[in-house]
Amino acid sequence: MLGDQLNEDATALQDFDPAQDAVWMAEVTQESTHVPSSKQRTTLFLSAMRHFAARLKQRGVRLMYTRLDAPDNTGTLATELERAIVRCSPQKVVMTAPGEWRVLDAIRQVARKHAVALDVRDDTHFFCTVREFAAHAKGRKQLRMEFFYREMRKKTGILMDGKLPLGGQWNFDAENRASFGKQGPGVVPAPSRFKPDEMTLEVIALVNRRFSVHPGSVDQFGWPVDREQALQALADFIQHRLPQFGLYQDAMWEGEAWLFHSHIASALNLKLLNPREVIAAAESAYRKGAAPLPAVEGFIRQILGWREYVRGIYWTHMPTYADSNAMEASQPLPDWYWTGDTKMSCLRDAIHQTLTHGYAHHIQRLMVTGLYALLLGVEPRQVHEWYLAVYVDAVEWVEMPNTLGMGQFADGGIMASKPYVASGKYIDRMSNHCASCPFDPALATGPTACPFTTLYWEFLGRHADTLAKNPRMVMQLKNLHRLSPAERAAISAQAQTHRAPAITHAR
Ligand SMILES: Cc1cc2nc3c(=O)[nH]c(=O)nc-3n(C[C@H](O)[C@H](O)[C@H](O)COP(=O)(O)OP(=O)(O)OC[C@H]3O[C@@H](n4cnc5c(N)ncnc54)[C@H](O)[C@@H]3O)c2cc1C
Ligand code: SF4
Repeated sequence: MLGDQLNEDATALQDFDPAQDAVWMAEVTQESTHVPSSKQRTTLFLSAMRHFAARLKQRGVRLMYTRLDAPDNTGTLATELERAIVRCSPQKVVMTAPGEWRVLDAIRQVARKHAVALDVRDDTHFFCTVREFAAHAKGRKQLRMEFFYREMRKKTGILMDGKLPLGGQWNFDAENRASFGKQGPGVVPAPSRFKPDEMTLEVIALVNRRFSVHPGSVDQFGWPVDREQALQALADFIQHRLPQFGLYQDAMWEGEAWLFHSHIASALNLKLLNPREVIAAAESAYRKGAAPLPAVEGFIRQILGWREYVRGIYWTHMPTYADSNAMEASQPLPDWYWTGDTKMSCLRDAIHQTLTHGYAHHIQRLMVTGLYALLLGVEPRQVHEWYLAVYVDAVEWVEMPNTLGMGQFADGGIMASKPYVASGKYIDRMSNHCASCPFDPALATGPTACPFTTLYWEFLGRHADTLAKNPRMVMQLKNLHRLSPAERAAISAQAQTHRAPAITHAR
């Protein structure tokens, strides 16, 4: 059982025979260092693993568990599995398909080396198997989430009224893009946060000792670490935030990390929650009249649509997907991504909150940290490593397509139909960040020009030939062509100032 497979109904355990089988789990340094995993993220994984192991033990399951601080711990999943195989000579190793290509590859190699049968089973926590996704993708010139999502709705009957979508519409996105306006979000319901118990406190001390130089702080750790807490977090969201979720899904507000989001991605990705129960709870809230359809459809689309879709993209395109760089971006990631030490209010707020909690909501990831890296031209692999390191919900199958495909357009359009690019005016419309920022989102040049706005026009200019082939970019390019050659030259010169030599993050 791996650290993101903490469900007792896992396929790996389906025919578990307590008389002759044992569960193997290992905490290893490599999983926290192949990217510099933040203290929040490592703490969550280790604490959740220990809580799950304790539960298995209570059930009388024979457990082989290596702790991170065990003196004989060899530090990698592969070498720890080898040790276990040598010690027990198992007839076979059974596992649920892991969430990362690298891990599957390493485990396969160990099994081959020791001539042990390896039984890799489907992960039934997802609605769609990788084979089904591949069949959906076959023969299509372009993959689009919306068509996949409709297929999933029909297949599962979720939010369906016979053969038709409930409410007569597949998608209520147009109603889900409000900002908070000048008055702000008002009183936001407090999120579910959980006081660390003895086990989590022990992990926090270990993480602070072993990974003291890793990003972020674990002082305010409050994530659900077991199934009971995860269920509590889900119930709290459904009752207090789901009704507003859709409307304010894209909105941001300075100092407000949680807003009307669910904060359950980490619980879902660790398998503390099953997406079926999450969707059932949201659908039932609608049917009881406790939440409006646009909010419920918007929320369900994220899980039944986007979450399943990105998983399909990952497994049908790995391992080459990891090297995608369609925009030929080569800049280093600015050093301040690891500290939040920047004058740009929107980025400072998103990064500080990320380092404090291991969390930022989707638009902060896509249209603040992701957008800046895309416009600046940061090498996609460095952007991917940052996202995989800093978020508590980061597991490669979901993080990588979101970062490389949606955030950086590095896959050239496999995942998204166009690059998500905008100037600082988008951030101004969706938040109050610009009011406290020394820069002006309306300006592309001059000492107070917003770096997003400068880099936006420069990005369009730099990639104009490639983007001209994309019908969805016509309007944006039309506006670019309204700028005079002198304005474009000044923008290009100013853009270069943001690319002053940066010291890359030292691991
Ligand atoms: C650059 C980038 C990197 C990302 N990295 C991750 C990651 O490592 N892990 C991760 O789970 N999500 C990732 N996402 C998707 C999304 O931002 C997070 O799932 C969401 O912000 C988590 O917060 P929440 O639980 O409050 O979600 P909510 O806003 O409440 O959404 C509900 C749920 O829908 C699912 N969801 C929403 N959007 C997506 C999406 N685009 N892809 C897959 N699932 C989605 C999540 O399970 C989430 O919990 C990333 C997005 C971007 C743009
Ligand atoms: S002015 Fe630009 S940098 Fe400043 S907060 Fe607005 S978008 Fe961000």
